[in-house]
Amino acid sequence: MLDLTNLYRPKSAEEAVRALLEGEGTGLYVAGGTIVVPTGSPSLDYLVDLTDAGLDYVEVEDTSDGRVLAIGATTRIADLSLSPELASPALRALFEATTDLGTHTVRNRATVGGNLYAAHFPSDLPPAFLALGASVRLQGVDGPREVSLEDFYARRSEVYRRGDLIVEVRVPGGHEDLASAFEKTGRTRVDVAIVNCAAAVTVSGGTIEAARVALNGVSAIPFVAADAGAYLTGKSSTEDVFREAGRLVSASVSPRGDHRASADYRRKVAGVMTARALSRAAGGA
Ligand SMILES: Cc1cc2nc3c(=O)[nH]c(=O)nc-3n(C[C@H](O)[C@H](O)[C@H](O)COP(=O)(O)OP(=O)(O)OC[C@H]3O[C@@H](n4cnc5c(N)ncnc54)[C@H](O)[C@@H]3O)c2cc1C
Repeated sequence: MLDLTNLYRPKSAEEAVRALLEGEGTGLYVAGGTIVVPTGSPSLDYLVDLTDAGLDYVEVEDTSDGRVLAIGATTRIADLSLSPELASPALRALFEATTDLGTHTVRNRATVGGNLYAAHFPSDLPPAFLALGASVRLQGVDGPREVSLEDFYARRSEVYRRGDLIVEVRVPGGHEDLASAFEKTGRTRVDVAIVNCAAAVTVSGGTIEAARVALNGVSAIPFVAADAGAYLTGKSSTEDVFREAGRLVSASVSPRGDHRASADYRRKVAGVMTARALSRAAGGA
């Protein structure tokens, strides 16, 4: 249970970072609070509430590298799922991840930034954003910077510094033939995932030109299955090829078992989720 001394409500990302670093005792950011409130420890002294920090938006930007979908960190999952920008084959994985996440009540509170930060849960948005090649904008004490989401997870101890705030996630527009899909297995429809997986593929004339597969629930962090992506490139878009990519993923992961599922079950399901996500993505390509 929380027993706080202070609650800060900064009006900007810069102010939020300062509040977190300068607060007395132990502090945390809080966005939707769906994790912090039920699991927060009494040793927490203060929270920095991000509600008024101006990070609730979904925007399309035209940049020199093409179209980018910019999603503010405190955007609620429910709001993101309703964004018309997600109604395209390319972003279907993201749409499906937002609608498969928890219950209506959770989606109405939970935010994109909280979901990306607490990826160990294992949360649903990271595989979708990873498959789509997203990056995150971080606000640190020295100013803002952008890192690929893949590095944010794989090299977290190097790229993430104390007090860093996730400000925005950025999804590149991608090729016009890009299509994606998201798959999830859980104990119930609304429980957190046992394994989840997203695939994004570009198919031209029946040949896979590029593929990215990302998973969560089968290692300590969400990750891009690079071997599967390399295997798929240049192959025919067929169910046999997708199953083989799934077999490669199963063979490459070393999950831990827990009260939700054994390690062996997670390994097998990772392969099945991979093949299914690829098949559905390719069907939309
Ligand atoms: C009943 C229930 C069911 C759930 N089901 C699912 C599910 O199916 N799928 C799923 O993915 N998750 C699920 N969750 C977990 C959770 O709701 C989500 O991960 C949610 O997106 C977390 O976002 P939040 O804004 O509520 O985070 P908060 O609780 O506010 O914060 C979580 C953590 O992230 C940090 N944080 C928050 N925002 C930022 C930021 N911008 N920058 C840096 N750090 C930040 C906080 O300091 C804290 O450590 C469930 C939770 C509950 C209670």
